[in-house]
Amino acid sequence: SRDLTKSNAQFQRAVQRLPLGVSSSFRYWGDDRTVYVARGKGGRTWDIDGNAYVDYRLGYGPAILGYADDRVDAAARKGMEVGGVFALSTERELIVADRIAKMVPAAELVRFSNSGTEAVMAALRLARAHTGREEYLLVEGGYHGLFDAAMWMADMEGWTPGSNGDPEMVPYGKGIPQTVKKLAHLVPMNDLQRLEDTFKQHGDRMAAMLIEPIQGNCCGISARRDYVQLARDLCDRYGVLLIIDEVKTGFRVGKGGIQGLLGIRPDITTFAKAVANGYPIALVAGREDVMRSFRFGGASHGGTYTAHSVSLAAAEECLRILDETPALVTLASYGEALKSGISGILNARGIAHSFSGHASMFGIFFAEEAPDNYRDWKVSDYSFYDRMAYYLHDLGVIVEPDSREPWFMCEAHGTEASCLTDTLKAVELAVD
Ligand code: PMP
Repeated sequence: SRDLTKSNAQFQRAVQRLPLGVSSSFRYWGDDRTVYVARGKGGRTWDIDGNAYVDYRLGYGPAILGYADDRVDAAARKGMEVGGVFALSTERELIVADRIAKMVPAAELVRFSNSGTEAVMAALRLARAHTGREEYLLVEGGYHGLFDAAMWMADMEGWTPGSNGDPEMVPYGKGIPQTVKKLAHLVPMNDLQRLEDTFKQHGDRMAAMLIEPIQGNCCGISARRDYVQLARDLCDRYGVLLIIDEVKTGFRVGKGGIQGLLGIRPDITTFAKAVANGYPIALVAGREDVMRSFRFGGASHGGTYTAHSVSLAAAEECLRILDETPALVTLASYGEALKSGISGILNARGIAHSFSGHASMFGIFFAEEAPDNYRDWKVSDYSFYDRMAYYLHDLGVIVEPDSREPWFMCEAHGTEASCLTDTLKAVELAVD
């Protein structure tokens, strides 16, 4: 078992100054399990006790090439020489926007932002400004950031599967005003009838439907293509804008994102994470006529740090690599090899299992079939997975506990031979 003496001591000190001892509540994994990192390189992370991990968290997804990638970091250093932020624009913004438009055809126009939250917040503002409507639709199990409008979920306590009613829509925690709820609607993923009915009932008043076709905060539960196609058709019929949130899938599942794989063109897309291999940058992109609603007298948008010279230079280099080299193929092949290795181990022990998502970000379920919506997943028994995740931490493989996020792959996992063998060895020990 791993030694966490220093992390535990750090936690005890940190919690006196930092709530929960961390800077994102999701990084708190218990008083004696919260890990403090010394550094990351490639597909691995080292904690302050010196434990090494093959890392499938990758900062919630951004480190698409691997931590501290020499190529991107060299570009970021050049970006530093530019000077940061100016309250004026730089030439590189257009260079990066052109690359994005080339990779993602629906990204006709691009507006930079800093984080996924900010990008989705701006996308919803834009949709409201463009349509003159205020209501919007969310899909159960999705996550779109920290702002009030996005933080509504299905309350699974007190709801039984097969019961006629829906779980109640509740906020993620306290501090989110109930008045916001009046504008939000929530549907279960992959239920075509419910989607039609919801549009029939509220479609005329909705500005946007927000969907994450692979749910990056819900184990990679995925929309079927026919579901997203129906969403596209209904949006067209009711004058609603389709926002595909590619904060996790963008520049990861393929050059053109999940929309490219599904062959469905959204009106607005949000990106962040993999855009710059972890440097903070995000973007709202979309249809020209919609995006032109970012104007005076239209949707207000700005930000002191938008298109920061360091992040922008990192984005230019990261996107160049993703577009011009086989990096995404390398990491997806690694994901396939990892899945088949895990399957081999589980099959040999007669353990039923399945995968969700994409080879570059997959969820593991201990059942014949992966759930295709949040409700089925929430009522399933995922205690075996959670136990496995905690064993894996002790064995030098870091994955999200509590079965929340999928495993994320990076290019460096595929190029460092020992990542695969180390992971499979640990999985074997963990399940035995
Ligand atoms: N949308 C999705 C799909 C996400 O996965 C996340 C972050 N996990 C966000 C939005 C919010 O991004 P950020 O944490 O950068 O604000």
